[in-house]
Amino acid sequence: MKILDQKISQLTIPTPFAVGDTHVYLLKGDMLSLVDAGVKTKEAREAFMIQLKELGYKPTDIEQIILTHHHPDHIGLIEEFPRARSIVAHENVDLWLTRNESFFQHYECFFRELFVTSGVPEQFMGFLDKLRVPLRYAGKGHVTNVISEGDVLPGHQEWKVIETKGHAQSHLSFINKNDGSFIGGDHILSHISSNPLIEPPINEEEARPKPMLQYRSNLQKCLDLGISKVYPGHGDIFSNVETLVPLRLEKQEQRAGKVLTLLKEYPQTAFQLCQQIFPRQYKKQLDLTMSETIGQLDYLEDSNLISKTYEGGLLYYHAG
Ligand SMILES: [Zn+2]
Repeated sequence: MKILDQKISQLTIPTPFAVGDTHVYLLKGDMLSLVDAGVKTKEAREAFMIQLKELGYKPTDIEQIILTHHHPDHIGLIEEFPRARSIVAHENVDLWLTRNESFFQHYECFFRELFVTSGVPEQFMGFLDKLRVPLRYAGKGHVTNVISEGDVLPGHQEWKVIETKGHAQSHLSFINKNDGSFIGGDHILSHISSNPLIEPPINEEEARPKPMLQYRSNLQKCLDLGISKVYPGHGDIFSNVETLVPLRLEKQEQRAGKVLTLLKEYPQTAFQLCQQIFPRQYKKQLDLTMSETIGQLDYLEDSNLISKTYEGGLLYYHAG
């Protein structure tokens, strides 16, 4: 637990995920708000309650929950606060809190179709059955206050909402107009590059979002916000946004360069590329590694460096 200033404290909660601990923030203002809520495990709940008590509060003191995005390591404990009647978040968080069944079916169909056309063999499709497993770590509820770019946080007029899609299609960050501090969720972290993740379009008839392109433009957007320091969802608090953002962008361009080199040899599917880029990880983490590969392909296509053709139901990418 860290008291950052009179109005904001950081609480750190363990998760069972590879990412390690998650940070949540307690905001004092016209209301007492919790920004993000860790995972739903006994260990997380205990760690949170101990730190809340150290700060001099009880669970019933929390009046509002604000969420940066819908991932389970950020929404776990939302049911623990009986007086928090409002959940404030991007509208796309709601599908995950309510466990909207038709959305999940659409989600699974989308990935099956995407992966089949990307050349993923049937024996690897088992991951589709596991898509819902992380939900056991997620809290249930519904978004009562939808917020979007340019809004201010209810009860905390100095915090402005910045849309930062890429890592998630529900991702928002919050900037303090007075001192430039930035609650960044998983948009920008000091120790690892945040991964843009493929998600289906919210409306089935729309084209899928391209999270790598969103992530890049939302990183660039951060350079113009006058961010003084970042309060992240994971890892250390940091202030070198002006140097970190160009580094992250450059690293991504280098990764895309490797994909382009492979495509200069011969046209390939996303799955063929994924196997070569992530030879050790692709079987165990097919969703993450395919997200990364397709992200790089979206970037190369957007830069007019590659094109694609359909042959026998498969999508092939070509250099040039
Ligand atoms: Zn996270």
